[in-house]
Amino acid sequence: MPNPATHLLVPLVLADLWRDYFAKKRFPLFYVLAAGIAGLFPDIDIAVWWVVNLLYEVPMELVHRQFTHTIFIPFLFLVVAILWRKNRKALLLFSMISFGIFTHLLLDAIFSGSIMPFYPLSNFSLGLDLLSGISANVPTLLAAFDGILLGAWLIHEYLKHRIKDFI
Ligand SMILES: [Zn+2]
Repeated sequence: MPNPATHLLVPLVLADLWRDYFAKKRFPLFYVLAAGIAGLFPDIDIAVWWVVNLLYEVPMELVHRQFTHTIFIPFLFLVVAILWRKNRKALLLFSMISFGIFTHLLLDAIFSGSIMPFYPLSNFSLGLDLLSGISANVPTLLAAFDGILLGAWLIHEYLKHRIKDFI
């Protein structure tokens, strides 16, 4: 799995870039944070596994990457956002949650193993597993990626807001 930090940072940085450069009307940072936190959500099944595992010994694969790693969850949040679009706050919140969860699924499917996007309707699984080929160095590589991403984003924020002070 990409690190929890990656799952938080990628949607957070993307949502912030969207906010800074593309959104017609700037929205509060709260929604950027919502995208980041939502990016962590699908791995809540690991916490569920921890709890279940206290009572019964079960392999993690039995719980992890099933219900919380399907396309239905971000789709559901997107539907709520669209239905509630007249309320700007609700539209923003639910689309950010949908986006955060969706990036989690993408990161898992691209970099690490596979996901079953239509579970439990279908066991069809999807995954490029790009990181397993270089598995020996993956933890260091991911940590470096997180560090670079966080550093670049902080520099961007610093410069952007400093520059803005003078305009
Ligand atoms: Zn995951």
